[in-house]
Amino acid sequence: MAFESINYQCPACGGPLHFASAEQKLVCDYCDSRFEVEEVEALYRERQDKADAKADAAAATPKPVADDAVQEL
Ligand SMILES: [Zn+2]
Repeated sequence: MAFESINYQCPACGGPLHFASAEQKLVCDYCDSRFEVEEVEALYRERQDKADAKADAAAATPKPVADDAVQEL
C-alpha cells in the first residue's frame, strides 16, 4: 500500500508511474519506461530543491508597500 500513494510522473513523457512489485520498479503506463524507485525519487528531490529555491527567491523579493498609505484615507 505504501507505494500506491506515491504519485510519480514519468520523467520521459509525464504519464503516471505505477510500481511493478515483480520488477521492483516504477513503470510508465504510457510509454512503458521503467525506472528505479531511487532514480525517480532522486529526480523528484532535485526538482523539489529547485522549487524551494524559487520560493525562497520569491519570498525574498520585497513587496510594494505603497498601498498602506492609500488605505489610511
Ligand atoms: Zn512515460
